[in-house]
Order: sequence, then C-alpha cells, then structure tokens
Amino acid sequence: MLGLMQSQPLLISSLIEFAERHHGDAEIVSRRVEGDIHRYTYRDLAQRSRQLANALDGLKLGFSDRVASLAWNGYRHMEMYFGVSGSGRVLHTINPRLHPEQIAWIVNHAEDQVLCFDMTFLPLVQAVHAKCPTVRQWVALCDADKLPADTGIPGLVSYEAWIGASSADYAWPEFDENSASSMCYTSGTTGNPKAALYSHRSTTLHAYAAALPDVMCLSARDAVLPVVPMFHVNAWGIPYSAALTGCKLVFPGPALDGKSVYELIEAEKVTYAAGVPTVWQMLLGHMGPSGLKFSSLKRTVIGGSACPPAMITAFQEQYGVEVLHAWGMTEMSPLGTLCTLKNKHLALSKDEQMKIRQKQGRSIYGVDMKIVGGDGNELAWDGKTYGDLLVRGPWVVQAYYKGEGGDPLVRDAQGRGWFPTGDVATIDADGFMQITDRSKDVIKSGGEWISSIDIENIAMAHPAVAMAACVGMPHPKWDERPIVCVVKRPGAEVTREQLLAFYEGKTAKWQIPDDVVFVEAIPLGATGKMLKTKLREQLKDYRLPGL
Ligand code: ADP
Repeated sequence: MLGLMQSQPLLISSLIEFAERHHGDAEIVSRRVEGDIHRYTYRDLAQRSRQLANALDGLKLGFSDRVASLAWNGYRHMEMYFGVSGSGRVLHTINPRLHPEQIAWIVNHAEDQVLCFDMTFLPLVQAVHAKCPTVRQWVALCDADKLPADTGIPGLVSYEAWIGASSADYAWPEFDENSASSMCYTSGTTGNPKAALYSHRSTTLHAYAAALPDVMCLSARDAVLPVVPMFHVNAWGIPYSAALTGCKLVFPGPALDGKSVYELIEAEKVTYAAGVPTVWQMLLGHMGPSGLKFSSLKRTVIGGSACPPAMITAFQEQYGVEVLHAWGMTEMSPLGTLCTLKNKHLALSKDEQMKIRQKQGRSIYGVDMKIVGGDGNELAWDGKTYGDLLVRGPWVVQAYYKGEGGDPLVRDAQGRGWFPTGDVATIDADGFMQITDRSKDVIKSGGEWISSIDIENIAMAHPAVAMAACVGMPHPKWDERPIVCVVKRPGAEVTREQLLAFYEGKTAKWQIPDDVVFVEAIPLGATGKMLKTKLREQLKDYRLPGL
C-alpha cells in the first residue's frame, strides 16, 4: 500500500518561491566587483531570477543545457543559482582560479552554451573565449554602461541589458526531481578534472540537512556571510539553505582580505560565517595586531581542510565565536560531517571538549560513513583504528559526469555502492570522525603512518607560525620522513631548533619532523587549500639532513 500524501518533486525553484512568499523582505547584501555595496531582498532576487529564466528561454536553450558562471559571491551569481537551475538548465560554476587552459578544457567538456562572468575575469575570458566553441552567448555580469566598447568577445552582452529586456512573468516548470541542477569539477590534482553532477533532489535534501541545528543551524534570525566561494561546491549549499530559512545574506564579492571581511562582518551585523582555514587566517591576522573584536559574530563553520586547533581556540577564547569544524567534498554536495557536541559532552572540561571539537565531527542524517582496511572489511569505531573513509547517501555521487573515471563506487555485501573519499580517518564510539590525512598525503615512516595534519597542527600552535605544511621526504631506511615547511608571522622569529623543540612532548618522538624548512609562502590551490603536489615539486632538490 502506498502512502496517500502529495507527491511534489523537490525542485530548486520551490526554494526561491518559498523565500519570495515567506521572506520577501529579508535582505541580501553584496559587495560588488566595483567596490560598492548593493542591497536588495529575496523578493528582488526571485523576480530577477525569473527574468533570467526568460532570457535563457529567449536563447532557445534546451532542458539540461549548461550555463556557466565565472563569478564571485554576489547577488547576480545567486540569481543564476535559481534562474538557471529553476528553469531546468544546469548551472556550471567554474573556479576562476584554475589555469586558463583547464578552464577552457572544462567549458568544452561541459559543453557550456552560455557563460556569465564578473568583470574581474574579462582578461581571462578574452584569453579563452576562442577556445570555447560551444559557448554561444557570453554575458558580462555588469550594468550596460560598465561594458567596455571593444572587448574582442563576439556578441558579448551586459547581464543587466540582457535580463532587463525580459519579463519577470515566468512560471517555473515542473519536472523530475532527479534532473541535473548544477555541476562542479573537482580540482583534478591527478589527471583531468571530473565533474559532480548534482540533482534538484540531492540539492534540496542537502539544503534541508545543512540548516539543521547540529549542522549549520541557520535561521531567519541569522545574517550569514558565505566567504566560501559560490564557484566551488555551491558555497557549501548556503545559497539554497538561505532561501529555505530566509536568513539575511551578506556576500563578500572579490574582497576576501582580512580587513574587508572584518569590516563587512561588523557593518552588516553578521552572526554566522563560513570559510576555509586560510581565509580565517587572514581575518585573525588582521584583527589580532589591532586588538579588534567582533560585535555580532556568534558562529563560524570552518572546513575544506583541517582547522588547526589553535584557530578553534583563538575564535572561541579570544573572540567568543563558536567554531563548527566541518568535513565534506565536491562529490558530497559537499557536507558530510559537522562537529557539534552531544548532550553528554556538556559536562566535560573545556580541554576535553576541545579534543572533540578538533575532530571533523558526526555524520549528518543522509550521509552514512564507514572506515575500511586494505581488505575492504569495516574497521572498529574506537577512535584509534584508522582506515579508508567511505560514504553513501542521497547527496553523494554515484558516477561522474559523462562516466569519466568509470564506476567510482565500492560495493558491499548487500550490493550497495560506497564512495571512497580518498581520506584516511578514525571514527570514535560516539561516531565522531577524525581525518588522519588524505591518503596521498599520509607519511609512511618505518611501516607506521604519520598524519601530516597532526604535524601541521602542532606547528600552527606556535605563536611565530602563520602557516605550516608537512610533507614526507624519501628516506633510505624509513621509506619516508616528515619535514615541516613553515611561513613565519610578519615580524616574528623562531629557529629550526626552537620549533623542533616545540614538538617535544606533543607527539611521539618518531613522529617529530626531521627538519624545518622556512618558506615565504605555501602554494595554495584553487580552493585555498595547500597544494602539496606543488610544494613537493618546489622541494625536489631538498635532501633530509644527514643524507
Ligand atoms: P578538491 O580539493 O579535490 O577539489 P574538495 O574541495 O571536494 O576537493 O575537498 C575534499 C577534501 O578536502 C576531502 O576529501 C578532505 O581531504 C579535505 N577536507 C575537507 N574538509 C576537511 C576538514 N575539515 N579536515 C580535513 N580535511 C578536509
């Protein structure tokens, strides 16, 4: 017997319809590429998303055709999130920090038909447009009078002129909730990038889950600043969860330096912010020396790479901001786990709570996870045994776009497919997962594993260290030995010997790095994560001491 409840497809258009109807006057504030602050409401967003949908219809774009963006976090990008997907097309958010050749490659691979870009990226588009034959409409995300006369890009229109000519009268179509809604390419550190192709169903379920109290805990009372880019994994789904909750949204545009982010948080009374550790590093680096404090910020989600414990402590102790450590990946839409305490942890001491907060956290309902050994058998949840982390759930990929890379899933005894994350992790008896490392970054020394994250976290706790990256170096006896590359804080001093001494008592002796290499900067990838492949290249002539 089937249930007798209404069956409505879970569509992204329903989110914007809901936001318009129930939170029409809630604000969306954006710092624009031009530098000024733009303000409007969800009602305006909904109206302009419909204009965009009409403009796409005007191009005779078919169902599931791809529309690409090269844009910062801002209201026009947000309109694309709803206008493109809501009208049945697929939003392809492109990471502008990728190499131009790689951008051209993914535009061709996705067969993008329309590409909308912020003016920051005009030179980039001028460099690649001739290599992108599938794109039949280039759109500059700007006012008509901001469009330079001769850009060399055939048929280029300004977004405002383009959607301005379209009616706001539009009925969102209904279709199968499993239809594709948006896509995001992984960074492709090995081989060509592969795309995760999200669906309306996966996105809507993820939006519900992200808003839960033990996940991002978003509400209509929040003012949310997603520093995490809308060009990578849909800004962790915040645009959708925002429409679902009606929170005020504050978009930072291109200004991601500590000063600009701080000023925006204060000016817009932001209560909640989300970003990767490197961005928060810049923010705290700006605030510390000037003795600045937050007047409204209450919580921040930090993920994308391991959040150093020193950062969690700084946010909590110095600034009174709760840190929610999060883990996920492009292939998971991206949220997998979030670290929030359970009731029984509330009575624990601060130090004991801190040990838990450093972990990547507990599964969100909708994500099942397990750790397995080399033989594929599931390992114990004892907080010590580590293994390959596998996940499954309705917002986890089952295959990559165009079947690239074949079937990525591993089957269990019941034939269910699990996605191997490429991360090595432990899970404790309470279900808190902790990433030991990415499997390709873990250091194998004398048959034992050393977590590069642990080594980095210790260095990051030293007051003179701004950033630390640990990599394994070949060793004839031990196979690999860890070294730590360190960027010093401006004006701070620490010697190799002092830093190595700092490790004493904080980790097992054999895990202490063999050397410290002081560097000007650590190479960062397109999503602000440390690029260890590049760092290893830079260290190709390096030899361990004594070898
Ligand atoms: P890519 O960097 O390949 O594009 P993602 O942006 O999807 O991929 O990043 C996913 C990976 O980032 C995870 O598999 C994990 O290794 C790492 N990661 C994400 N969040 C965390 C975290 N909180 N702690 C440690 N590693 C993390």
